[in-house]
Amino acid sequence: MVRRPGDSARAPRPPKQEQETASEEITEVAPGVLRMQLPIWMPGLGHVNMYGLMDDRGLTVVDPGLPGPKSWKALKARLKSAGYGVKDIHTVVVTHSHPDHFGGAGRIKKEAGAELITHKAFTTWSLDRTGRNTLSEVEAERLEQAAIDEAERYTGPSLEELPALRDEDASALDDFTEEHQRQSVPWGGNTPWGGSKHPMPPLKKRVAIRAMRLVFAPPDPSRRVKHGASIQLAGRTWLAIHTPGHTLDHLCLYDPEHGILLTGDHVLPSITPHIAGSKQGDALHSYLATLDLVAALDGVKLGLPAHGHPFDDVPGRVDAIKEHHEERMEKLRDASLALGPATVVDLSHELFPERHWGVMAESETFAHLEHLRGVDAVERWNEDGTLIYRAAPRT
Ligand SMILES: [Zn+2]
Ligand SMILES: [Zn+2]
Repeated sequence: MVRRPGDSARAPRPPKQEQETASEEITEVAPGVLRMQLPIWMPGLGHVNMYGLMDDRGLTVVDPGLPGPKSWKALKARLKSAGYGVKDIHTVVVTHSHPDHFGGAGRIKKEAGAELITHKAFTTWSLDRTGRNTLSEVEAERLEQAAIDEAERYTGPSLEELPALRDEDASALDDFTEEHQRQSVPWGGNTPWGGSKHPMPPLKKRVAIRAMRLVFAPPDPSRRVKHGASIQLAGRTWLAIHTPGHTLDHLCLYDPEHGILLTGDHVLPSITPHIAGSKQGDALHSYLATLDLVAALDGVKLGLPAHGHPFDDVPGRVDAIKEHHEERMEKLRDASLALGPATVVDLSHELFPERHWGVMAESETFAHLEHLRGVDAVERWNEDGTLIYRAAPRT
């Protein structure tokens, strides 16, 4: 999910806790709350935590892993060790619209008749679902393997961050005409910042990506909640905390009585989630503001992240992540002052090592530039459809 400039230059380091392979061990991390780890094959991440919330009705699971047979097998095994079956699940909560979080949700909803809760902004596609439902197990395994092979060859930022899970890309799912390719980020060049030329992937790669997208179609939620909504699970009341930034639809769950926060990807113990710049506004502003929001929640004693170990100091981790973004913005201002007027692509090359150059690095650079523009630290203008940024001199 996150590798930072200079990483490659250093000696090999022990894996970060978010990169540890999924353990079969199940731990009760708080009364009535189980941590179960599911394997994922996203570059840069080793597992996703599926939390189980136990109550007298059965079980709620939060973020039930990737789509595909491998994750499903692990999910069933973990449930069995915990003394449950899929049919015992009455509710699924999905923190945000990334495939390692929503993957198993649709199948659980269908097989257990479970309620599926997301934030109200949860992104779904207008995909023709009939085709997907007729996938045989063999076909699903073949598509999954194609996706895994593709992930293993991939060298850029995390696949989770591919900006593919959006409505405007839906039309490209089953239609690989030139026109759709041209319009579809990240291979077309129609980025909000312009001036980006990323070659269309070869046919084989496009087929694998199509397979991934089919397997990755997000499920339809049965209950979409707003910020502040209360949800009864595991015998207590959880409050829905809307935390846009990593994605627009990101949701944390807060149990004020026991001081527990399910943080999803919003606050992770040792890595920083990707922030994608968008046409809609200052995503980094939303992210930083909602970091402050969760840091200010009363009496949080335990953060339960979607990747990595439970951690106790949520406000301390928030400070560290904010500091990281401050440093990035300072570096960006310095680069801009040195370069003079420059494009997002040029500036991204100053921030990221060459192996990460590309649309995702540009997207994060764009997010930082738009945030700096919001505080008048950079100015921006448009030259023939390409955005040009220049830092204001430091005072
Ligand atoms: Zn995510
Ligand atoms: Zn994630």
